[in-house]
Amino acid sequence: MEHFPYRNFDLCCERVPLRALAAAVGTPAYVYAKSALLESLDAYHRAFAAIPHLVCYSVKANSNLGVLATLARAGAGADIVSGGELYRARRAGVPGTRIIFSGVGKTREEMRAALEAEILMFNVESRSELRVLDEVARELGTRAPVALRVNPDVDPQTHPYIATGLRTSKFGIPYAEALEAYDEAAGLKGLEVVGADMHIGSQLTKTTPFGDAVARIAALVKTLRERSIDVRMVDIGGGLGVRYRDEVPPTQAQYATLLLPVLSELGVTVLLEPGRSIVGNAGVLLTRVLYRKETREKTFIVVDAAMNDLIRPAFYDAWHEIRPVDEARLGRPVERVDVVGPVCESGDFLAKDRELAESEEGDLLAVMSAGAYGFVMSSNYNTRPRAVEVLVDGDRYTIVRRRETYEDLVAGETVL
Ligand SMILES: *Cc1c(COP(=O)(O)O)cnc(C)c1O
Repeated sequence: MEHFPYRNFDLCCERVPLRALAAAVGTPAYVYAKSALLESLDAYHRAFAAIPHLVCYSVKANSNLGVLATLARAGAGADIVSGGELYRARRAGVPGTRIIFSGVGKTREEMRAALEAEILMFNVESRSELRVLDEVARELGTRAPVALRVNPDVDPQTHPYIATGLRTSKFGIPYAEALEAYDEAAGLKGLEVVGADMHIGSQLTKTTPFGDAVARIAALVKTLRERSIDVRMVDIGGGLGVRYRDEVPPTQAQYATLLLPVLSELGVTVLLEPGRSIVGNAGVLLTRVLYRKETREKTFIVVDAAMNDLIRPAFYDAWHEIRPVDEARLGRPVERVDVVGPVCESGDFLAKDRELAESEEGDLLAVMSAGAYGFVMSSNYNTRPRAVEVLVDGDRYTIVRRRETYEDLVAGETVL
């Protein structure tokens, strides 16, 4: 996470010291580095420069308007999974022609909104959905551009909650049924078949599953062409992992090197849907130590961020590095602690049995690699306002989402 260096003993985001930032905006706070967002997007553009391609950033990884607008201005499109994400993408300035709509449960209303926005492609996940989309498009007097999300049945070797390309997953159309589904789609007047799509899982740290899956999709595309179904776009999904601890995920260049021969031979426009690999290491969760609590069994560091702010440790057993904001703390003895939040759940922890340099009440800690699936999965559990989000650009910062107030939390509720 080279965008978060120590300078003069203070952990910084780019050139903004996190200590000063915490004093200005409070804690807990999500802090994102603009240059990190742009560099990872650019790495995709460079890696796939040899063929026509579009990077449709997966909005669900971090849907803040400031983040979306930054990526959109740098040429990214958006991969959305709901009407709400369509609204966000449009608000952030993503043109409809750069939006793809994925997800197993699109409603008619969401389909209508996406057709009105003239999006690039619908990634359809079942034959029932094909029929509904056909109806909605015909009602609007238009044709919906579709790809079928095909489940290539490869094991992505990742956490079961984020593996999506196995035969047993709810996602996609089983490979063996894909031809039949394409034949049906080609016969529906409200649809125009334009692509093929896959997304096999998230936080993948090996290239082999991507290679296997793309080979299967390429074979399908060739068969479809023999049947005069002209597939112009191949969407290879997202899923490239990031380094949280000691993983060594493939770089964008390694990923592209493996896939380019097969994809360029097909002569298609390649769509990519990266989420985590764009934002994961572009953000941290900044938190303050409230209490040290020592029992005979354990030492707890109670901080002001909790599972409602970052659920990944509780939900996926995820490991996030925790760094002291004051570099001088690193000279202190190491102790084994649980870093926990104020929420009334035993599952409320940010780190368990972690070796950390001794910290004191009032210290600031940074939970690293929290840019993806962090704020977006946060909730108001325990009636905790959601954290402020800040985007740093060099030595300046912008509050891209203000901290929620108690008023925000009860807006829309009624006292009988
Ligand atoms: C979540 C998701 C992505 C992004 O996955 P990452 O692992 O964050 O890159 C891409 N496509 C679809 C369909 C998704 O559901």
